[in-house]
Amino acid sequence: DNYQLEEIIQILQHIVALTKSQAILHNISIETQFNSKQAHVFCDENKLKQVFINYIKNAIEAMKDGGTITITAKEEKNYIVVQVKDEGPGIPKEIRDKIGTPFFTTKENGTGLGLMVSNEIIKHHKGEVKVDSSSTGTTITVNLPISKTIG
Ligand code: ADP
Ligand code: MG
Repeated sequence: DNYQLEEIIQILQHIVALTKSQAILHNISIETQFNSKQAHVFCDENKLKQVFINYIKNAIEAMKDGGTITITAKEEKNYIVVQVKDEGPGIPKEIRDKIGTPFFTTKENGTGLGLMVSNEIIKHHKGEVKVDSSSTGTTITVNLPISKTIG
């Protein structure tokens, strides 16, 4: 692991730049709304990037008819709250408690590891993940502690 103080907004901006062209190929636009200045998070940058790539990849795979993925970040008390919201069909009720368990996938070529790995990484960063899903889309909410010891 390589933990350092990083600006979470910069990490998110980098992730959007990395995934935007893939989204455009699927008729999807990625919009961002970052209501935070310089929130520093003590993190393994590459691992956190993997987390958000997993969520965006799932969002792209869910949105067969295109649409918008909205990524927001805002500060709440000592946490930065990041949301990845898609306009896909949502996660069916019957499988909601199975997602995030190893190898559970509904995709022909899925590994069923993305959400599990993301959960583990967020746990290691002392954060929390919440999944909200309905027939009009899915929102993943991640809370990460903001580090006050800015170097
Ligand atoms: P994989 O993408 O390889 O299937 P994941 O762990 O990333 O593995 O996701 C597990 C399952 O959770 C997916 O197969 C899918 O059924 C469901 N899922 C995850 N994210 C979404 C989403 N944004 N919209 C709808 N279903 C989702
Ligand atoms: Mg996935």
